[in-house]
This record gives sequence, C-alpha cells and structure tokens, in this order.
Amino acid sequence: MFSNTSRTLQRPPKGLQVEKTKTQTALVRTRIPGFDYVINPYVGCAFGCRFCYVRKFLDFWGIDRPWGSFVYAKVNLPDRLRREVPRRRWPARILMSSATDPYLPQERHFRLTRRVLEILQQVPVDLQILTRSDLVLRDVDLLTRFPHLRVGFSLSTNRPEIKRRLEPRSPAIHRRIRALQTLKQQGIRTYVFLAPLLPLDIESLLRDVVPYVDEILVDFMNYPGMNRRILKQAGLEFVLSPEWIRKTVEELEQRVRPYTPLRIV
Ligand code: SF4
Repeated sequence: MFSNTSRTLQRPPKGLQVEKTKTQTALVRTRIPGFDYVINPYVGCAFGCRFCYVRKFLDFWGIDRPWGSFVYAKVNLPDRLRREVPRRRWPARILMSSATDPYLPQERHFRLTRRVLEILQQVPVDLQILTRSDLVLRDVDLLTRFPHLRVGFSLSTNRPEIKRRLEPRSPAIHRRIRALQTLKQQGIRTYVFLAPLLPLDIESLLRDVVPYVDEILVDFMNYPGMNRRILKQAGLEFVLSPEWIRKTVEELEQRVRPYTPLRIV
C-alpha cells in the first residue's frame, strides 16, 4: 500500500518512529457514507488512542509495530494530489482523515495537510476535516476560504480523567474545545464527534460545546471484541453494555437535542 524509507527525520518522543513514505494515491475512494474520497496524509498516528479501530489494519498494511509507535509522512502526497485533481470529477466530497489525524504534531514539520488545503481550495469541494488537535487553528486563513467546509473535533469524553485512561497522548480536551470555539467564531461550520462514546459531563457539554457546533454526532465503541480487555483495564467495560448505551443516548436526546442537531451514526 505504501513504501517507506528507513531514515528517521526528527527526534520523536521516546518510542515514536517518524519516517518519510511515498503514496501511490492521494484521493482514495471510500465507502464511508456521505463521502467520495478520503485523504490520509500520514500512515499511523502519534496519538495512539488505545481504542483506535485503525490498528486493526496493521497486518493488512504489513506493519509489524504497535499502533501509536510510528508516523509515516506521505511526503509526495501534495504532488500526487496536484496530478490527480484534473483527472477527477468535481465537485467531490472529501474526508480528511479517516485512518490518521491530519493535525498530528508532525504536521508542524511536514505541512502536508496545509499543502493539501492549498490545492483543494482551487476546486469545488465539499470538505470535512476530522481531528483531535487544536493545530487545525494554524490553517484558519485557508479554512475560511472554503465555501463548503466542516471541521469536526473527535471527543470520546469531555472528562479529563476518563480521557487519560484511553487516549493519554491526544491533545487536552480543553484545547480542542477552545479550538472549536475559535473556529465557530471565525464563521466555520463545526461539529463534535462523540466517538467512541464514553462517560460525559453533560453540563459542560451544554455550556462549552453545544453553542459552538452545528451538529453533534455520536458513535459507539467499534470492535468491542478487540477493545473489551482495554476497557476492562481502564475500568470502563460498562460502556459496552446496551443498558449504559441506552441511558446515555436517552440523556443526550433529552438534554442536548433541544439545542443542537444530534445524530447517532
Ligand atoms: S487520533 Fe484518531 S487515528 Fe489517531 S489514534 Fe486516535 S482515534 Fe486513531
């Protein structure tokens, strides 16, 4: 699927391997409902969320490293995209990203996501960015130029003590929420993706998130078989129980839906 060089480019956090790679395709056809293509500027993810479903594909990719321990930057992706753009039908619906985070810390150095945005602003595109990082604020100047753009922040929980157990290396919740608020104030359409749904502080969701989103999406723990042990270790196995899911969704529907569209995906 991709090839990577063995040259380590920058001094990564202990245990994180950062390398350059090359990709054959920039715009990858997808079956994700609502999208024609996905763009993943990186292979792997420095955030290494413990529940991440992407780690399921490591064997398929032929990668024999633990999820969260590598980031391969597709350094030729902007050039590929530039060549593919004239050959695709527009307008197209694009999600960035589905198998990594487009605003990993390494994006400060490689600037792949930014270069993708520079190219895509030249075509009629319905673009959705999904991230856990406030680094997206770096690109506000470009984002405001897209007439059809939504920026989504993934938030499995808004309780820091829960986040620490399952996504200890992702950006702090308060940073994501502040970035969400800033983007909304800049007139950018936003949403929050409660995924995978973990215990929430509903009061703080209503106060800090709901006024700044156009929609809230909810998804549940994917691949429960793969994640049960991790959830058990974190003392959160109950999030797989139909009873907890039913109660939590009911509470969201009663308390959040009156103020913002709420979609269970
Ligand atoms: S940020 Fe997204 S892609 Fe990265 S590990 Fe977490 S869930 Fe997976």
